[in-house]
Amino acid sequence: MEEEISRRSFLKGGVATAAGLVAAGIPGAEALADVEEKKQLATLLDIRKCIGCGACVDACSEANSDKYPNPQKPFPKMYPSRAKISDWSDKQEVSERLTPYNWLFIQHATVDINGEETEITIPRRCMHCVNPPCVKLCPWGAAKQLTNGISRIDPDICLGGSKCNKVCPWDIPQRQTGVGLYLKILPNFAGNGVMFKCDRCYERVAAGKLPACIEACPEDVQTIGPRDEIIQKAETLAKKINGYIYGATENGGTNTIYVSPVPFGELNQAIEKGKGKPHLDRVEDTMADANNLAAAMVIAPLAGLAAAAGKLYNYTKKNG
Ligand code: SF4
Ligand code: SF4
Ligand code: SF4
Repeated sequence: MEEEISRRSFLKGGVATAAGLVAAGIPGAEALADVEEKKQLATLLDIRKCIGCGACVDACSEANSDKYPNPQKPFPKMYPSRAKISDWSDKQEVSERLTPYNWLFIQHATVDINGEETEITIPRRCMHCVNPPCVKLCPWGAAKQLTNGISRIDPDICLGGSKCNKVCPWDIPQRQTGVGLYLKILPNFAGNGVMFKCDRCYERVAAGKLPACIEACPEDVQTIGPRDEIIQKAETLAKKINGYIYGATENGGTNTIYVSPVPFGELNQAIEKGKGKPHLDRVEDTMADANNLAAAMVIAPLAGLAAAAGKLYNYTKKNG
């Protein structure tokens, strides 16, 4: 326990480089140390190990709360009125689904394992797709994919039009009204806020630290490393436990790989699904669709323009 605490304080001190993490014996960090910048990083979640304690959810909140929206009220009236208000600012404590203020939640499933009723808990957040439709189909270039595979939405460019949510097979990004660029340029017509989701702690990763949810987990449920190695680990683990893999091929492959002792079809039946509660169903490769490919090419110039407007907004925000 003492060693564990010292590891934590070492990390919290902000001095942890990838090499430092390895020296401290932090599980999952080994792979981070030698990763080439251009390699996509993936996480492996061994859901047998998850005890549903929620430490990861709390850690995510603690690490990312300064990125949460702080909306201006009252909200400007929108035309057309179909651009509905989405306001989570008075429900920031909601932790049983994804919201702009909760980027990770624990899903529950009761299943039969060898004749025994077993409760399975599954940490859910953005899957960080290898070829993310949220990034490729965002008309404004607000969603980006970093070379290490992390996808994130730039809150200074996003107009909250929810395209990313519509094209995401898991409906991950969540909108908050009353924040962002739309208030400055077209408060009554454009978008309606900003979309929020897990950015896989991109600043922490860039600084050689582990994502907060991985660091906080007492059961070492998650491991992070180059995608090819993570896939290999997932395959070895699945073979060992006679288990199943989710994420290796879903939506053309994701950088979040789950391994379960129960088939994912069964888990998908058992979990509560709906808004902010993603499914665990099989997913075809969205970006293999010719229409989406064509759309991605058409919107590229628009995205450049919007990115420039976003930069200007950011500049005026800082200097205005
Ligand atoms: S901290 Fe680890 S064990 Fe606890 S809920 Fe999260 S993934 Fe599961
Ligand atoms: S899971 Fe959805 S939000 Fe996350 S990268 Fe894939 S398409 Fe984007
Ligand atoms: S990687 Fe970071 S942002 Fe994503 S769920 Fe974990 S703690 Fe939250």
